[in-house]
Amino acid sequence: MTWTGHCLCGAVRYEATGAPLNTSLCHCEDCRRASGAPFQGWIFFPRTKVEILSGELRVHAYEGRERSFCAACGSPISFTDQAYPDLMEVTLGTMDDAAALKPDDYNWMEDHLPWLHLDPSLPQFIHNGPPPCLT
Ligand SMILES: [Zn+2]
Ligand SMILES: [Zn+2]
Repeated sequence: MTWTGHCLCGAVRYEATGAPLNTSLCHCEDCRRASGAPFQGWIFFPRTKVEILSGELRVHAYEGRERSFCAACGSPISFTDQAYPDLMEVTLGTMDDAAALKPDDYNWMEDHLPWLHLDPSLPQFIHNGPPPCLT
């Protein structure tokens, strides 16, 4: 299974292989501001399974977490946390087959915008859910 994606301008292209470990919609304020959207969708992969094929990334590092963006158009691409060095999260919205990636859960409901209606059958976490297991 190979997942491909790209930023708005097409400069950054990436590929991820294997089944995603998890798909989360994060409602935290950081994701909201970094994406400019009410929430950010993240696809979790083992870090070794994600490869940037082209383009230049700009990285915003803050408190052990790194967010990358296309240096040309600013589209958010990835997120890593030094507490979980083996994981990489890729933005759902830049995936070519985003329609196939239904969310597994909702994170950071503490910051959730109250007018946004969610699927009540999905797990909700006040902050982060448990990190996906790599083994
Ligand atoms: Zn771009
Ligand atoms: Zn977040």
